[in-house]
Amino acid sequence: MQRECLDVLVVGAGAFGAVSALDLAQRGHHVTILDRTTGPHPSASSTDISKMIRMDYGSDVFYHDLADHSLNIWEQWNEEWPKRLYHPEHFLVLAAAPFEPGSFEFESERVLRERGYTPERFNAAQLAAKWPAWNASLYPQGYLSPRGGWAESGAVVSRLLESGRSEGVQFVQGQLDEVLSKGSQVSGVRYRERGGSMNTLTADRVVVAAGAWTPILLPWLEDTLKPIAQPIIHYGVENPYRWQSPIFPPFAADTAGSGWYGFPSLQDGRLKLGHHGNGRVVDPDSRGEVSKEHLDHARSFLRSSLPELANAPVVGTRVCLYCDTFDGDLWIGEDPGRSGLIVAAGGSGHGFKFTPMIGRIVGDVLEKRDNRWLYRFDWRERGEPRKEAARLQI
Ligand SMILES: Cc1cc2nc3c(=O)[nH]c(=O)nc-3n(C[C@H](O)[C@H](O)[C@H](O)COP(=O)(O)OP(=O)(O)OC[C@H]3O[C@@H](n4cnc5c(N)ncnc54)[C@H](O)[C@@H]3O)c2cc1C
Repeated sequence: MQRECLDVLVVGAGAFGAVSALDLAQRGHHVTILDRTTGPHPSASSTDISKMIRMDYGSDVFYHDLADHSLNIWEQWNEEWPKRLYHPEHFLVLAAAPFEPGSFEFESERVLRERGYTPERFNAAQLAAKWPAWNASLYPQGYLSPRGGWAESGAVVSRLLESGRSEGVQFVQGQLDEVLSKGSQVSGVRYRERGGSMNTLTADRVVVAAGAWTPILLPWLEDTLKPIAQPIIHYGVENPYRWQSPIFPPFAADTAGSGWYGFPSLQDGRLKLGHHGNGRVVDPDSRGEVSKEHLDHARSFLRSSLPELANAPVVGTRVCLYCDTFDGDLWIGEDPGRSGLIVAAGGSGHGFKFTPMIGRIVGDVLEKRDNRWLYRFDWRERGEPRKEAARLQI
């Protein structure tokens, strides 16, 4: 297929926007990114110290496979980039009860084995011997996932933006106000400049990758995409080496039941604890603070599961926003009612790990090429008979 060189405007410089801009520039399109800052925005979901990179998705082989493909590129980026930002330190999966068919842990392990991986199954005694920080009496069974780990997510976005710059991506600082159209064809955007005045940018295609802000900017998606607040806590540990892999790998502790997951300590002693719960729908620009109730809840988790951290001081908190779709699948496709408007959002609390594949998917949508992953992400109606959706976030 002959490739037409298009003027593409990408709105949002989080992981989805940065990698889409890079892919599109590498395909030869003229790409501009519009965001409120030229680097990672402090309140963007991607701008955190770490995100989990895992293939464990219960029985949902689609996501296992997509993560497997993404991991190939994470590993390639580690070779190509000046600094390794993906840390292949495995993923420790702890279960609060012996594995049962149908549970997240059982099904994830089964899919790993069926697809040729060898997870390391352990019981409580083996957990205590190998990963002694854990109160093994609470976790009778678990496995160490052999491929996965975590990525320095904010740094990854900076790196992708830098790579985009060297491929010719232009940056405009400002805030999208409205997507403009001529008839049913998108023609550009109106945006507010830093100084407050309005300006316009013309484009053949507009890719809106504004994470949790997407349904605010494109209000016809407000029933489809929801900004959901989820808490993150950073604790300070005195001896970071004691809290790093291999003795303290990234973990999910009965996460389908309890919601807890976390990461090894950074060199500076920050150890991140996340919790996947129901969350609350918020305005992305006034999301509030992590509540005292949640801090207390987290403290009792530490006391019971990781007793050495029972008194670890809180050194930071963050309310991070999922951009949840109604079915947990990402949302990547062209708006059927607005030709040339592509949406790349709906990370639903688990999108970061797929960053390496997102650009390719968005590029194929924009160029109207087939893409094997798209059938789960494309524009869809609530209540449509769906394939299995992601059951566990992070
Ligand atoms: C608590 C939490 C934990 C998570 N943990 C994991 C994990 O461990 N593993 C994993 O794979 N995923 C995880 N995720 C999900 C992951 O963070 C997201 O799927 C991913 O970062 C989404 O990237 P994005 O580019 O879509 O959005 P964002 O990173 O939020 O980027 C959106 C961008 O749009 C810009 N923008 C907004 N409004 C405008 C406007 N008007 N004009 C211009 N620009 C605008 C913003 O400034 C921002 O830069 C987690 C999410 C949360 C909240």
